[in-house]
Amino acid sequence: MNFSGFFVELKSENMFTQSIWNAYGVQQDFFELKKDIEVEVAIVGGGITGITTAMLLKEQGREVAVFEAREVGKGTSSHSTGNLYSITDELLSPLKSKYDIDTVREVVEARKSAAGLIEQSIVKYKIDCDYKKQPLYLFNTDDKKDIGQEREIARDAGLEILSLPDDFPVEAKEGFSIQGQAQFNPLLYIQGLAAEIEGGNCNIYENTRVRKIEEKEGHYLLHTTSGVVRAKYVVQATHTPKGVELQYHTVLGPYREYGIAAKLDNDNYPEGIFWGYFNGDKYSFRSYTRNGESYLLCVGRPHKVGQAVDNREHIKELTSFAQNHFAIKEIICKWGGQNYKPADLLPYIGRKTSNSKELLATGFSTDGLVYGTLSAIINTDIIVGKENRWEEMFKASRHQPGKAAGKFAKENLDVASQMLKDWLFKGEDAELSSIQPGESKVLVRDNKKVAVHRTTSGELKAFSAVCTHMGCVVNWNNAEKSWDCPCHGTRFDMDGEVLEGPAFEPLPRIKE
Ligand SMILES: Cc1cc2nc3c(=O)[nH]c(=O)nc-3n(C[C@H](O)[C@H](O)[C@H](O)COP(=O)(O)OP(=O)(O)OC[C@H]3O[C@@H](n4cnc5c(N)ncnc54)[C@H](O)[C@@H]3O)c2cc1C
Repeated sequence: MNFSGFFVELKSENMFTQSIWNAYGVQQDFFELKKDIEVEVAIVGGGITGITTAMLLKEQGREVAVFEAREVGKGTSSHSTGNLYSITDELLSPLKSKYDIDTVREVVEARKSAAGLIEQSIVKYKIDCDYKKQPLYLFNTDDKKDIGQEREIARDAGLEILSLPDDFPVEAKEGFSIQGQAQFNPLLYIQGLAAEIEGGNCNIYENTRVRKIEEKEGHYLLHTTSGVVRAKYVVQATHTPKGVELQYHTVLGPYREYGIAAKLDNDNYPEGIFWGYFNGDKYSFRSYTRNGESYLLCVGRPHKVGQAVDNREHIKELTSFAQNHFAIKEIICKWGGQNYKPADLLPYIGRKTSNSKELLATGFSTDGLVYGTLSAIINTDIIVGKENRWEEMFKASRHQPGKAAGKFAKENLDVASQMLKDWLFKGEDAELSSIQPGESKVLVRDNKKVAVHRTTSGELKAFSAVCTHMGCVVNWNNAEKSWDCPCHGTRFDMDGEVLEGPAFEPLPRIKE
C-alpha cells in the first residue's frame, strides 16, 4: 500500500479524523437523490445499522432506499476498532447488578446472533474485509479496576473462558480470554454489503441529507437536501435520533474517544482483541494486517463531547500509552469517534413510540458494530411483522426509571450545568484581529454568542455559536477542527454543517 498521499493529507490540519479503515476503503459513488420519490421503507443513514437493515429488508422482498448525508460507511462505523464480541464495553457485572444473570445471558445471546449474521453475510457475499476469529483478552494491570467477577459472569452467560496465555504481551495482574470472538475491517464490510445490495428493490443515495422528518396522513415525508421522499416506514439509522427527541436525548450520554494506528519497530503485532485496564483507565488494542502491511491500533481516552479543555491532550495521552507499551516506529493515523451511552445500559431499538412506523437504533455505547447489526435484525422483523425474541428487551419506547435513574440524573444535571455556565460565562469580548490563523474563539457580539475560526490561510469563518439542536453553546474541538455541542453531542464542521449528532440544521453563518 502506498501511503504517501494519505500521509500528506493526514499532516494537513483537516485530516485528523482519517482512520486506518479509510486508508483501505474503496471509492464508491452512489448517486445523490435528484427528485421526489416514494418508497416502502426509507432508511436514514448508511452506516453498519442502515446498510444491514437495507440488506435484510431487501432479502425479505421489501422496497427500500438508504439516504446517506455523506458517504456510505464513513460515519462512526469506520472510526471504530473493528472488533466483534459478545460482552459489552461496560463489562457484564454492571449489567448483572442492574438486571440479573438471565438478562446478561440474553444480551450475550443477542450479540452472538448479530455477530453470527456478520460472519454469514461475509461468507454469503464473499466480502473481502479481513474477517478473522480471535479471542478477546480482558485484563487489569493493577488494583484500580476490579474485574474479579467478570470471568464467572461471562462463563455463566455461556461464553468459553480460558486463562491468559504464558506469552501474554503485557504484564497483567489478573485476566482471562473469551474464545470465539472476531475482528474485521468495518468499512470494507459495509462497502462490500452496499455494493451487493444496491439495485432492484434497494437504492442507496449518498450526499443526500435528511433535513426534516414529517408524519402526514399515515405516511412519512423526508425532506432531503435534494428531494422529498414519501415512505410507509422510516428507520433512523443515524447513530442518535435526529431532532428534538427528549425521551431519548435525556437518556443518552454522548462521549468522544480516540484511536491511533501505528507501525512498530519490530514484528510483535499482538494477535487478538485486548481490553486492558491501566491505572483504572481502559485501553483497547489490536493489530490489523492488509496487503502484507501490519499496524497496531490503540483506542481510548474518552471524554464527554464538547467538554474537553484540550482535545489534543487526549490523543497525546493515547500516543504516550502506546509508546510506553509498544515499540512504536511511526503513527500512521489518528482519529476520533463518538458513542452514545444509554442510561440503563441497553441500546434503544424499535418503534419510536408504541405504534409508530418510525423505528430507531441508538444507545450502542462502543459496541455498535454488533448492536447496529442486532438493530437491523429487530427492526426488519418489526417491519415484516415477524416475532423477535429480543424486541421487548431492547424496545426503544421502554421506560425504566428505576434502571436509568442514576445515569439519567447525572447526564441531565451535566447538560443543565453546561447550558447555564455557557450562557452566563462563555464568550470573550475580543477583537477579530486577535484571532490567529488556526485559532478559534467564541465571542460575544451584540449580546450574541459567535463561533469564529480563522483558517490557516487567514480566512475568517463566523457562525452563531448556538447549537441548532437545543440551544447550548458550542465549543471548539482543536484536534478535529469542529464545533462540538457539550449538551447532546452535535458536531459541526468548520463551515457550520452538521458532522454528526441530533441537530438537523447547520449553524447559521454570520456574514459581517
Ligand atoms: C472509538 C470507537 C471504537 C469503537 N469500536 C467498536 C468495536 O470494536 N466494536 C463494536 O461493535 N463497536 C465499536 N464502536 C461503536 C460503533 O462504531 C458504532 O456504535 C457503530 O458504528 C454505529 O453504527 P451506525 O450505523 O449506527 O452509525 P454510523 O456508522 O455513524 O452511521 C450513521 C450514518 O448516518 C448518517 N447520517 C446522520 N445524519 C443524517 C441525516 N440527517 N441524513 C442522512 N444521513 C445521516 C451519517 O453520515 C452516518 O454515515 C466503537 C465506537 C468508537 C467511537
